[in-house]
Amino acid sequence: MKRNSNRVETSSFADGERQVAEGRELLTEERAQTLFTTEAFIFKAWFPSITPSLTVLHVEHMRGRHAERDVADATPATGEIRVVERLLRMGRDNFLGVIRHELGHLCDEQIEEPEAEMRADLIALFVTLKPIRYDRIELQTVGDGEWPRPRDLHR
Ligand SMILES: [Zn+2]
Repeated sequence: MKRNSNRVETSSFADGERQVAEGRELLTEERAQTLFTTEAFIFKAWFPSITPSLTVLHVEHMRGRHAERDVADATPATGEIRVVERLLRMGRDNFLGVIRHELGHLCDEQIEEPEAEMRADLIALFVTLKPIRYDRIELQTVGDGEWPRPRDLHR
């Protein structure tokens, strides 16, 4: 198995294994921005008023709560989505799950109403036709995990 700048060489893998390897692809900041731009374009097609941008912060936790899953937030007024650099090392599946969820928040015209977290996931499902799942640390992922959002997480 060879590595180039940002992905594992998977040409000899069967398709299932290739998906796993790509899902765990570790992201450079440049690669993360490229993936984000593509996702933002798709969400904007349905919600043209959003103005998404991605900021990668070099801190361990977003809110200082020191929870492993505390990796991102979104500000609908400005369109800024912030993620901690640690998320990029968790791999592509978690990165895409998290940013699709946060893009869902940007598109939510009732963001202050109850059940905003579930709505963010449903908007992402509507736009991408893929569910946002929750992995073993209850972080969003487009890979394996639980759907819908676990009830013990904030709503
Ligand atoms: Zn959320």
